[in-house]
Amino acid sequence: MKKTLLSLVVPFYNEEESVEQFFLRVRLALEAIESVDYEIVCVNDGSKDDTLLKLIEAARHDSKIHIIDLSRNFGKEAALTAGLNEALGDIVIPFDADLQDPPEVIADLVMKWQEGYDVVVAKRVDRASDTFLKRFSAAAFYRLHNKLSDVKIPENVGDFRLITREVVEAIKLMPESRRFMKGLFAWVGYRTATVTYARESRVAGKTKFSAWKLWNFALEGLTSFGTLPLRVWFYLGLAVALLSLVYAGYLVARTMLLGIVVPGYASIITAVLFLGGVQLIGIGIIGEYVGRIYVESKQRPVYLIRRRYRAMEKEDEI
Ligand code: UDP
Ligand code: MG
Repeated sequence: MKKTLLSLVVPFYNEEESVEQFFLRVRLALEAIESVDYEIVCVNDGSKDDTLLKLIEAARHDSKIHIIDLSRNFGKEAALTAGLNEALGDIVIPFDADLQDPPEVIADLVMKWQEGYDVVVAKRVDRASDTFLKRFSAAAFYRLHNKLSDVKIPENVGDFRLITREVVEAIKLMPESRRFMKGLFAWVGYRTATVTYARESRVAGKTKFSAWKLWNFALEGLTSFGTLPLRVWFYLGLAVALLSLVYAGYLVARTMLLGIVVPGYASIITAVLFLGGVQLIGIGIIGEYVGRIYVESKQRPVYLIRRRYRAMEKEDEI
């Protein structure tokens, strides 16, 4: 009988220090799952260090390792998209190269999948290995996002999850070129189960996401999955306009009762500045969406592949 094929999809960006440990631990964890065969789809996202060389070296000894070398750094979302498109598995698991998500959890995901789910998300219960700032900002982001957007993203869930072939095909159907993967995963739905685990520290190297990158990532998420940020300005404008009508009525009444008094400069300048500010924010938000339409309308590919190193020949072995 043919075994289920599991594809582990791993984006690598400047991870030369992690590569060896990565394969050591991941291989052990995957070999231990007897019900599946596996392939490891490594996406080199334009690394500037020796990541690609190390990957090729590993693939030379292991025909289960496939490498997709992107033409430059396209970002994690694009790298994951590339990996999902290339993966052949019946079940697919996106996975980080830094081993922050313990590979041993993969067995739990597979076990849960065997109960008949299409998606098994891995939820972090212990994020002690992340900095306070990251945990705090992540929590704030999820709360805001889920208030504003129709598509709810589960809190403390990263890209680490098991999805079936059907779900992969569903994600491939989505044409957008700005890919906020967590949102896409949530949007497709399907029968979902959750497995919990504790997130570990990176085995080596540094995080590739600075505070500024994370902030932009959060904006990406907010504007990818909802137009409420646009609509908010309609209500704010309405409220301000109504208030100003009430105020005008009050001024008329006061003038009739008390006669003309010299009006205050302060109230005028406050109103002008406040409204100016509100309008600028509103324009900024519209700009964000217009920019998005612009990017999508160009219909550029999400990533470019420089070369594939798939199923190395046995003769290559040293
Ligand atoms: N990554 C990538 N392209 C990028 C940035 C990151 O492929 O432009 C990969 C990185 O190599 C790692 C994963 O995405 O495998 C998660 O990155 P990282 O560990 O830096 O993020 P964090 O865990 O700190 O959120
Ligand atoms: Mg990490």
